[in-house]
Amino acid sequence: MKKTIALRIDVDTFRGTGRGVPKLAEILAEFNLRGSFYFSVGPDNMGRHLWRLLKPTFLWKMLRTNAAGLYGPEIVLMGTAWPGPGIGKHHADVIRSAAAEGHEMGFHAYDHHKAQAKLTVMSADAMRQEIGKGMKLLTEILGAAPKTSAAPGWRTNDQLLKIKAEFPFSYNSDCRGFSPFYPVVAGEKLTQLQIPVTLPTYDEVLGRDNVTDDNYNDYQFSLLNPAELNVLTIHAEAEGGRCADQFARYLKRVIADGYRIIPLREAAAEVADTAPAGEMKLQAFPGREGELAVQQRA
Ligand SMILES: [Zn+2]
Repeated sequence: MKKTIALRIDVDTFRGTGRGVPKLAEILAEFNLRGSFYFSVGPDNMGRHLWRLLKPTFLWKMLRTNAAGLYGPEIVLMGTAWPGPGIGKHHADVIRSAAAEGHEMGFHAYDHHKAQAKLTVMSADAMRQEIGKGMKLLTEILGAAPKTSAAPGWRTNDQLLKIKAEFPFSYNSDCRGFSPFYPVVAGEKLTQLQIPVTLPTYDEVLGRDNVTDDNYNDYQFSLLNPAELNVLTIHAEAEGGRCADQFARYLKRVIADGYRIIPLREAAAEVADTAPAGEMKLQAFPGREGELAVQQRA
């Protein structure tokens, strides 16, 4: 697949859905492009994720300063003192208008914070319930079940892959890696294709290896493989917010260089008949806390 970038957009928060998704839809419309949006539709408890990293003594400093600049001021309280607001309920119209504009609709999470922190250690029944709740809500919003999903934080394991196989996904994007494959679990080749993300995310590389906002696009561009399928994940909270202009410049540049940008469903359709079997494992990953599912070299 020559000079191709499949574009995946993760939507993790209330604010990312309400503001980031319309902003990204506007940018993609300028270039007449379609991407794959993966939505979180249950409560926004991402504030807990942030607070987990902080000590209570930092409370007043956080409120006085603009420490939550990237995520917006409200995230510091999301889900900390009361249940976070229901994203799907409040922003059903935003989700539906992205669908009406031709973007692919995917399932990311019910409660992103909970899924990222606990999904891989839950019982099979709890996993089934958690995904079921989110899928029910997103299906109600869209009037049809999404055919693809992406595990929050790239955390998945054999049990979770088997539970996902019970849902009507034709392919998933749950891991980091180099090319599409059919996962083998306990000797059994699953029928749901995996489209691994091949490129790093903004928050993984910024501030490492001398990457700054000024040279971020150069860095991303240098990682593209013109001979293979590239899969890029952006976040509604970052590229649909503070990094929106930077992302628009990236699109302009890769298009000028001859890249085509497609939603993941098009990449999946192109490789479905030829993708090999493969395996993924949870392991440490540069720029991220904890372990991620990573495609293994044969
Ligand atoms: Zn996410």
